[in-house]
Amino acid sequence: MKEASLYEKIDGRVVCTACNRYCVLKDGQIGFCGIRKNVGGKLYLLSWGLTASMNIDPIEKKPLFHFKPGSRVLSISTTGCNWMCKYCQNYDISQRRTVEGYSLYPEDARKILKEYGADGASYTYNEPTIFAEYARDIAAEIKKVKGFNTFVSNGYLSREAVDYVSSFLDAITVDFKGNANDSFARKYINIKSYDPVFQTLKSLKEKGIHIELTDLIVPVEGIGDNIEDARQLVSWIKLNLGENVPLHFTRFHPDYLMSEVPPTPISVLEDHYRMAKDEGMKFVYLGNVPGSKLENTYCPRCGRLVVEREGFSIKRKFFDNSGHCSFCGEDLHIVT
Ligand SMILES: [Zn+2]
Repeated sequence: MKEASLYEKIDGRVVCTACNRYCVLKDGQIGFCGIRKNVGGKLYLLSWGLTASMNIDPIEKKPLFHFKPGSRVLSISTTGCNWMCKYCQNYDISQRRTVEGYSLYPEDARKILKEYGADGASYTYNEPTIFAEYARDIAAEIKKVKGFNTFVSNGYLSREAVDYVSSFLDAITVDFKGNANDSFARKYINIKSYDPVFQTLKSLKEKGIHIELTDLIVPVEGIGDNIEDARQLVSWIKLNLGENVPLHFTRFHPDYLMSEVPPTPISVLEDHYRMAKDEGMKFVYLGNVPGSKLENTYCPRCGRLVVEREGFSIKRKFFDNSGHCSFCGEDLHIVT
């Protein structure tokens, strides 16, 4: 464990500023996420130096389709989370409230990255903002070998955390993890509102961090898969983040407390895809649908196939070193 940076002291209590919950903690208390604790008036990150899960993944798995395509990332997580999604795919680590894992110091991460020939690191599987200080320390080591750093996040960052992580992040995938509507949020995620997520996205855009978005389509009660709600979300995205932000609609997979809910019908996902294209988004994808042609990138100007994907691997690509279409020169907004 290590003393955290993201907190303030107020009247003998500490206020954790890592995420938008702003937990107020008395001496001995642990925050909602399960890994940040007030010890004698100071906030400690209990999971600093402990990873609960670590893998080398294709960057396409995050999903990041427009950032360093074809690269490999060292994925690192801890235990705990600031959300409680009832269908979490990683509930074993995210909802665990005992802090445990394998010892992994920042310099170890750098050595593993080199050993496996990975190109960057991704802080993922559980919400990385809750272990932002650990991620920052690892990121500093990764940068020493010219690696990049990315988050896979729910976007529920505090203003303070946005500033903090912007100093070391190159890219972020923000996953709405369901319909970005507050009644869905209260019932299935245990947050009051998505407003902080929208605020985070606007701030990250201002700071110039590469953003991709994931909208998980949860087929429950006609809420999680409501296409008019999704249309509103898409129009917000287009207005505030622009039409070039890659948008991934992903298929729900039954898990955790919602193992009875069936996977999202492919036709529902395809309806979402068409809606987003009709609204003017240029780079729309389906996720968790192996074999779908809608995992590919098509040039928004000439319509040609420019990146052919199969699962998380790239089969063919037709863009130049600055991310422009090989056929017509259109900017594909790919960071190469
Ligand atoms: Zn083209």
